[in-house]
This record gives sequence, C-alpha cells and structure tokens, in this order.
Amino acid sequence: MNVSRLFLVVALFAGLSLSSAVSQPAHGSLQVYFIDVEGGQATLFVPDGGESLLIDTGWPDNNGRDADRIVTAAHQAGLKRIDYVLITHFHDDHVGGVPQLLDRIPVGTFLDHGDLYENDHGPIEQKYKLYLQQIAGGKAKRVVLHAGDKLPVRGLNGTVLSSDGKVIGQALPGGGRSNPLCGQEAAAPEDTTENGHSLGVLLRFAGVKILDLGDLTKDRERTLVCPANRIGRVDIEVVSHHGWEQSSSMAFVHAIQPRIAIMDNGAKKGGSVPVLDVFRSSPGLEALWQLHTSEEGMAKDGRPEHNTRPEYIANTPVTEGKMLELTVHANGSYTVRNDRTGKSVE
Ligand SMILES: [Zn+2]
Repeated sequence: MNVSRLFLVVALFAGLSLSSAVSQPAHGSLQVYFIDVEGGQATLFVPDGGESLLIDTGWPDNNGRDADRIVTAAHQAGLKRIDYVLITHFHDDHVGGVPQLLDRIPVGTFLDHGDLYENDHGPIEQKYKLYLQQIAGGKAKRVVLHAGDKLPVRGLNGTVLSSDGKVIGQALPGGGRSNPLCGQEAAAPEDTTENGHSLGVLLRFAGVKILDLGDLTKDRERTLVCPANRIGRVDIEVVSHHGWEQSSSMAFVHAIQPRIAIMDNGAKKGGSVPVLDVFRSSPGLEALWQLHTSEEGMAKDGRPEHNTRPEYIANTPVTEGKMLELTVHANGSYTVRNDRTGKSVE
C-alpha cells in the first residue's frame, strides 16, 4: 500500500471529509474554478456531463504563467480540452493569454462580442490581431454573440445580457421591478472603451444564477437595472472589472443583491475601497470572496480594513496563484473552497 492509499484508509476510518480536496465535478454538479491571474480574468466552468467553458484567458507573457494556471485547473477538472472560451473583451488581461493557452491545450470554439471597438493603433490592436491569427490558423472556431442570445454550451443554461455595447431590452424571468436606487445616484459617463463592450452572461445551473459581466462599467450596468431591474436578483456575482470603482454602483449591486460575490482582483489591481464598501453593505450578501488582499483596501498599519475576512481571501500579500473553487450541487446548494486554506464554506 503506498502512502497516499494509506492516508485514504486512515482518513476514512477517522471520519474525515475528503470532499474539500476533490476537484472534479461530482455527479450532477457544476464546478467553477476562479483562477488567479493577478488582476485579469480566467474562470473555468465544468458542468458534470456537459461542455466546459472558460471565461477569459488572463495576461500574456510571464513565461505562460496564466496559461499554466488555467491548464492546471483544467487537468484537475479532468479535462483534456476546453470546449468553449468566452472572451469578454479585447483587453490584455482577458484576451492576452490566448496564444499561450492554445500552445498548451486544445480549444473548441471562441465566443466574443465581435469586432474590436477600441482601435488604438497599438497594443490593443496587436493582441486582437494575434487572437484572429489563432482562429485563422485553424486552431479553433469563432462565434460572435449578441445581447439576448443563448450560450451554445451544453450543460450550462446561459443568456447573453450585454455585448458590443448593447444590453438586453426585456426583463429576464424574475426581473422587471422598478429600482428605487436609480434616482439616488448620478448617471455615469458613457464608456467608449472595450470595457463597455464586454460580453456579459447570466448562467443558470440547478436553479442557481451566476452573473459575469466581464469589465462592464457603470453606465451599461445601470442600463441593465434602471429604471427597472431587468436582471432580478442573482445568487452569485463575479464582480465586474476586478472590483474597480469604474463599475459596481450601489444602484446596480444593491438591485441584483448577490448572495455570494467573487472578486477577481489583484493585489494592486481592482479591489477599490468604494466597491469593497458597496458589497459589504449589500442587502442579503452572505460573503464577499477575493482572489487577493487589496492593498488599496488595507489600513496603513496593515489591518485588512475594507477587505473581506481573511478566510475569504485566496491570496494574502505573501502568496499568489491560489484559486477559489465554487461547487453548485444538483439540489441547488453551493459551497466555496479556498485553495489557500483548504477549507470550504457552505
Ligand atoms: Zn480586466
């Protein structure tokens, strides 16, 4: 008997739960990996028996650091290929990792919002061209999605809420109520960057609603909830734009009332104090999780201050690369596991 089998037997006799260490989706469940890409996005959805979906690919460079982290999570999930990769928009921290990812693991189809909007005659255009070259080279297919479209991913019931600067015109089931918070905040200026063109989706699994709007900023988030809240309430929100204060107004967050919020911030990117505070005061919020301690949110003496509780943070100032894992069970319950502590919270 080798050491790992001996440990298994001892653990079972001791009555310990090993479930917190199991990474592949259990029967009938959805496993979601919030991969740390240091202030970009890379979120992998793996429904048991369905197709896999990666939202964004993190940064380029760094010797393929982000692609390596994504592939590690994919292998933990038991994947040999990723069926769909959704690119929310064409900024470096979302699309930049595409070539390195394709060097390491096959991808079936890319989903995106259509033509590049922010033509800068510089690095953004270059990354967009690199992305198109991968597709033209036959490494994967490409499908452009519009607001109101259904996601083609089998096993995930997904609806596109925003794409290419437009948002859904009708309320979703459970939405449509007027939002009294709209009149209490000044409207944000129009965003004319790629952020405002983010491909944003609402996913449903076992009755649980998960919202991910990429880096959508306040003006279009507001269009989705003002004067009436077209989204309704959600269970889990991937906090827009890494928790930067250009997104997540109170009129938006306190209207959709997430029960769990997961922020893909870096130590020095995102995690703005006003956003941390909007979530802390959001009605019905059970927990805010962060991929990193936000330095901006810390007090000068090093106290976490505006940050969430330490057990809800994947990476402290001395760690990196730890992820958060969400499990949505077939009965609609869910747990979040912190890769740093090994502990799960229901
Ligand atoms: Zn971003």
